[in-house]
Amino acid sequence: MKRLAPLAALPFLLAANTPPGDIAYDLVEGMTTEVGPRLAGTEQEARARDWAVKKLRAMGFANVHVEPFAMPVWRRGAESAEVVGAMSQKLAVTALGRSGATPPEGLTLPVVQFDSMAALDAAAPGSLTGKIAFVTHRMVATTDGVGYGFFGDIRRRGPAVAAAKGASAIVIRSIGSDSSRAPHTGGTNWPDGVTPIPAGALSVVDSEQLERLLARGPVVLHLTLTPTFEATGQSGNVVAEIPGRDPKAGIVLIGGHLDSWDLGTGAIDDASGIGATTAAAKVMLDSGKRPRRTVRVVWFGAEEPGLFGGNAYAQAHRGEPHALATEADLGSGRVWRVEFNLPDGAADVRQRVIAALAPLGVSPSAVRATGDSDVGPTVALGVSAIDLNQDATRYFDLHHTPEDTLDKVDKADLAQVAEAYIRVLAIVANAPEDLIQPRKP
Ligand SMILES: [Zn+2]
Repeated sequence: MKRLAPLAALPFLLAANTPPGDIAYDLVEGMTTEVGPRLAGTEQEARARDWAVKKLRAMGFANVHVEPFAMPVWRRGAESAEVVGAMSQKLAVTALGRSGATPPEGLTLPVVQFDSMAALDAAAPGSLTGKIAFVTHRMVATTDGVGYGFFGDIRRRGPAVAAAKGASAIVIRSIGSDSSRAPHTGGTNWPDGVTPIPAGALSVVDSEQLERLLARGPVVLHLTLTPTFEATGQSGNVVAEIPGRDPKAGIVLIGGHLDSWDLGTGAIDDASGIGATTAAAKVMLDSGKRPRRTVRVVWFGAEEPGLFGGNAYAQAHRGEPHALATEADLGSGRVWRVEFNLPDGAADVRQRVIAALAPLGVSPSAVRATGDSDVGPTVALGVSAIDLNQDATRYFDLHHTPEDTLDKVDKADLAQVAEAYIRVLAIVANAPEDLIQPRKP
């Protein structure tokens, strides 16, 4: 029975009136139904912040407010792709975030295929002039979603490399593990000095279709992508707190990101993360027992176009002592592993968290926690972190597609995620050990 002792220190579990899974699911259902898509910097994201403030106040959190920050705003326009000639046919395409625009009537140009990012990198300068680059890959589903880092480079960096080599446009195979006609959007980057070109993602199956067509001979593509870009816009982080008893013990930062891509309703990315982490804080709030540390729930803005909210938070709050940061941004799949980044004197906290999560089927990892997307910049300053790794096997089937909708959220899985965060939060918010690490310069 000794191994279960940490659970006895979790009165929150018993005090909850509403099952935590229901709190989490109700947040996801409400946000995706009443707000819908939440593209960063747009009117819809502003509406999401209003919704968030009302919801968090109604839930009973203290100090609920918005912290605005400036950011550029990209909006999707028309988008279509069609093979021209004897085998003429339409292909399912979507623009990548921050894609440049074609003329309104589109571009009609030959396609050059590359089988990897390395192959595109190796293309001779100027060799893509007057062409549409097409980059493929073979990302497959894994529990830890590891392929997204490696193959995602094609989306993050491929367009700028193609532009630098003279390409007029680029289409990539969607960074996803599905086989559907739903293309995956996602942000791309343009280093200083590189003029954005039209950049789209074909659905996985349309990409395979284009490969088969190219195997038969040269292909000319008619591509129309007409997004718009404004340099000055606004987003914001929504903050809510449970004030702690001991200000010197530091803040526990927990949350997810409020913005989503515009194609779906962002149910898995990242309403589910917000639902699970906020449910954990709500259970603590409802216990009526004030935690030792202030628990700060943040629903970050503008994560998708490039971590604007996470960076703005780290900048604005770098002077405050943070005991620990944790975030959920990998959908609604079950937690299966936990990673730590704790000070040397907090080894027992690690052991208590491991023991508390074990009944949920979660095992410890030797990998050091770095904090998920939005809390990453804060953790990089030298803040302790616990990362709960969720099962990503199905995540990249839906990620950034029109199929990221409420019906894909498994209630039982989401309840397990909320339960895991409740257990972690109860321990780290009350631990007598010092969790504050020396700051990195
Ligand atoms: Zn996300």
